Amino acid sequence: DLLVVGSANADLVIGVERRPAAGETVLGSDLVVHPGGKGANQAVAAARLGARTALLARVGDDAHGRLLLGTQRAAGVDTAGVLVGGAPTGVALITVDPSGDNSIVVSPGANARLTPEDVRAADALLRASRVVSAQLEIPLETVEEVVLNLPSGTRFVLNPSPPRPLPAAVLAACDPLIVNEHEARVIAGRALDGSPEDWAAALLTLGPRSVVVTLGAQGALVADGEAVTRVPSVKVDAVDTTGAGDAFTAALAWRLGAGSSLPDAAAYAARVGAAAVTRAGAQESFPSAEEVAAL
Ligand code: ADP
Repeated sequence: DLLVVGSANADLVIGVERRPAAGETVLGSDLVVHPGGKGANQAVAAARLGARTALLARVGDDAHGRLLLGTQRAAGVDTAGVLVGGAPTGVALITVDPSGDNSIVVSPGANARLTPEDVRAADALLRASRVVSAQLEIPLETVEEVVLNLPSGTRFVLNPSPPRPLPAAVLAACDPLIVNEHEARVIAGRALDGSPEDWAAALLTLGPRSVVVTLGAQGALVADGEAVTRVPSVKVDAVDTTGAGDAFTAALAWRLGAGSSLPDAAAYAARVGAAAVTRAGAQESFPSAEEVAAL
């Protein structure tokens, strides 16, 4: 019932004492490989909550692609829409220094080869979904094609990350557009002053049917044409915020598809996001419905 259209990456992580300068070699820790990418993260987050979830993505015909297919299937995601080949699986090369700061190089690889044609070929998946959730780690033309091919009655949710200015047709389809402060600024194309309520009002003038602003430990805010609602956060001991936004978006999209109002869906999603920050990692940190209920 939920279709996630987006990226799948292998995150390759090495701990280092310090980063190498140009021309220099440093030794690091053992390599750790995590399944990642915003699309793959969202699909796993939703499936772990119990959502019937499918993923439309592209991976390479390589070990990283098989790792990603395996973790999607283990979580219960329908992977019939995961295309294989055309380029190596997307990779994020991540070094972490002792203070915890990351330096990241992303090779989009197969994610950059998920084409508008692939979307047209996945028409049956689109028709079978109540909600389609997308992000921007795949080509913007591909997201535009999703919007063009959206069946009537299917809801479109977009987290524009990494953010870039959006065509009017994409903005008009968003219900909601889900942004953090940085994404809000880039989408608006200018500095945003005032309160998050003011940012949401400014974003609504660009055409989305509704807007959700995520505010980290402060929770979130929901705005449609009629009302602006604050969604309280759940107080937790934050260990690692990686993937919290992906878990939040996946949970919100699933609840909307199940018939919840936007404020109710966002309140549930805030609980899911809070649970996700209590554990390290992205996909490894996503909670089950039972864990959310126990929070
Ligand atoms: P992003 O990672 O996209 O910037 P946020 O950091 O705003 O997204 O996190 C998404 C949601 O997860 C928040 O709206 C909030 O509901 C929840 N969340 C994130 N960090 C915390 C935290 N430290 N405590 C409680 N909830 C959190």
